[in-house]
Amino acid sequence: MSRVEGPDPKISFPRESLKAKQARASRILAVLETLYPQAATELAHTNPFELLVATVLSAQATDASVNKATPALFQRYPNAKALAQASPEEVEPYIKTIGLYRAKARNLVMLARQLVERYDGEVPVDKAKLRELPGVGWKTATVVLGAAFGVPGIAVDTHLTRLASRLGLSPHKNPEKIGADLERLFPKEKWVFTHHALILFGRYRCTARRPLCQGCPIYSDCISKGAW
Ligand code: SF4
Repeated sequence: MSRVEGPDPKISFPRESLKAKQARASRILAVLETLYPQAATELAHTNPFELLVATVLSAQATDASVNKATPALFQRYPNAKALAQASPEEVEPYIKTIGLYRAKARNLVMLARQLVERYDGEVPVDKAKLRELPGVGWKTATVVLGAAFGVPGIAVDTHLTRLASRLGLSPHKNPEKIGADLERLFPKEKWVFTHHALILFGRYRCTARRPLCQGCPIYSDCISKGAW
């Protein structure tokens, strides 16, 4: 089978039809459903506001570090109206164990103020409106819409970027392009699940430095097996 260059020099993509790639994606999805039937975000939250705040905090930080900080943060600022009245300096001590905490404190306060001014303190169920909020990009908006409201979408983080390449599902580096490729391969009703399940697979099995290829349940459908 002839192959083409992918985004990672270790990986060359097989030339395969969309139909063949969809068939591979379907088998990969079946494995993920067996492995992670309850796949969901690991960011602790009880409502869309908390999920939005936690997701903003999780940029370039681990979910575990965010989950350690948010209980006290949410107790002090339980909703957008409370957070909108704070100064960034007042928020900083609650999140100082998380990377980029000064910038994130500023963004969170401005975000809360905009939620209050524009949406009466509620999180809008609209990707364009979410993306206008400070600290909220395409990935955060897609995550929040999917996890809090069930709006279909495959948000692409570092794990999905790596896995899309290793599994030969997208040759792109740009997260929005990778997301579009993945959404062509997986059924729409499984997009949110696929996002969460691939994160878990990337976090605990196909890790960045040492993917656990031996005994991998996706081995036969992985184009980069043996490259590590
Ligand atoms: S075979 Fe290795 S590289 Fe491929 S998905 Fe499994 S762990 Fe990742």
